[in-house]
Amino acid sequence: MTTEEIIALEDQFQIPTYKKMPIALARGRGSWVWDEDGARYLDYYGGHCVTPLGHCPPAVVEAIRRQAGELLFYSNVVYSRPRALASALLAEMAPEGMRHVFFCNSGAEANETALKMARKWTGKSGLIAMEGGFHGRTLGALAATWGEGYHAPYRAVLPPTHFAPFGDADAVEALLAAHPDTAAVILEPIQSMAGVAVAPAAYFRRLRSLCDAHGAALIFDEVQTGVGRAGAFSISDVLGVYPDLITMAKSLASGVPVGAVLASDRMAAAVRVGDQGTTFGGGMLAMAALHATLRQIADAGLAERAAAVFARLRAGVGALVREVRGAGCLVGLALDRPAGPVVEALRAQGVLAGTSGPADTIRLMPPLNTTDDEVDFFCEAFAHALAAAPQPA
Ligand code: PMP
Repeated sequence: MTTEEIIALEDQFQIPTYKKMPIALARGRGSWVWDEDGARYLDYYGGHCVTPLGHCPPAVVEAIRRQAGELLFYSNVVYSRPRALASALLAEMAPEGMRHVFFCNSGAEANETALKMARKWTGKSGLIAMEGGFHGRTLGALAATWGEGYHAPYRAVLPPTHFAPFGDADAVEALLAAHPDTAAVILEPIQSMAGVAVAPAAYFRRLRSLCDAHGAALIFDEVQTGVGRAGAFSISDVLGVYPDLITMAKSLASGVPVGAVLASDRMAAAVRVGDQGTTFGGGMLAMAALHATLRQIADAGLAERAAAVFARLRAGVGALVREVRGAGCLVGLALDRPAGPVVEALRAQGVLAGTSGPADTIRLMPPLNTTDDEVDFFCEAFAHALAAAPQPA
C-alpha cells in the first residue's frame, strides 16, 4: 500500500479524534523509525513519550516472543510468574515506602484508580488539581485535567475540582482551607502539556505538609516523568518528596499497554479485596514486556543517562532558544516563534518532535538510551529547521 492509500483507508473508517502527522510508520529500531516509503526519522517524540529504550528493544521483543508462546493472558484470578517477577522489580525500583502496586492498562486508568483509592482512604470526595495539568480522558481523570474545552460537554457528570496555579503552594493552602472535603491533591511533577513547566522541590515539600495537615492524599501523576525519564525511576527520589500515590504508564513496557499505581504502606493498607479490578491489568504478555523493560533501565543506569541527555541537548541548542525546560528525557524548548512550523521543518530534516500547550514550545521525549551522536544529529537538524521555518515577527 502507498502512504496515500493507508491515510485514505484510516481516515475513511477511524472516528476522527486525532490530529495526525501525515506519515505512515512501518518499522522502528532504537531511536529511529522508518515510514512506508523508506524515509528515516530520529524519533524524539517517542511514540508519545512511550519508548524509554527506543523502538523494538531486542531484550523486550525476545521476552514478548517467549511469553506469547507460553501463555498470552490470564486475569488476576490466578497467580503468575511474569506478574510476580514484574511486581517485585517494579517495587524494587519504586521509592521506599511506596512498594505496593496495582496494574491497569493506561495512564487515565491509573489516575482513575488513584483517585478512587484517595477517596476511600480519606472518606472524602473533593479534588484539587493544577491549572495546565493533564491526567487523561476518563471522567475522573478528566475532572482533574485543566481546560474548558475538555470539560464543557461533560460538566454534568464530572466530580467538582478546584484548580490552583502550578507552583503556587499558597493557592493550594487556601483551597484546602476553603474545601475541607478534599480527598486528594493531584499534579504532574513536571507539567508536560503546559509547556514542560517545572517547580522547585520546596513547592512539593509544602504540598506534602499541607496534605498531611488537612488529611488529603497527595498524588503524583508520573505518567510522563516516571520510569527514569526525569532522572530517577520516580521523580520523588529527585525531589526528596514522597506522595501517597504515584501513577505511571507510557514508558513502563516499551509500548505494550501497562498502567500502574504505586501506593504507600498506609494507603495500601486501606484497600480491601473487591475495591478495584480490571480484566487485562497485569496480564502475562504485558508483565513480560514490563519486566524486560525495567530490567534494562535498571541494569544500564538509564535514569542517570537521561540526565546526561538533557545536559547535552541544553549545551547543543540552548543558545538557539529562549529557554530549555524540564528534566532528563522530558524536554521543552521555548522558542522565539510558533513551534508548529519548526516541528514540520524538523520532520523535513528527518526528526520527529512534539508541540505542547503553549504555542511557542517544542516538546522532546527521546529514548533514555539515545546516543550522543543522535543528540548531536538532533541539534544540527534543529538549527537547520529554525533557519527553514518562518522567522520571528
Ligand atoms: N497523565 C499524563 C501526565 C499524560 O501525559 C497522559 C497522556 N498523555 C495521561 C495521564 C493519560 O494517559 P493515557 O493516554 O495512557 O490514558
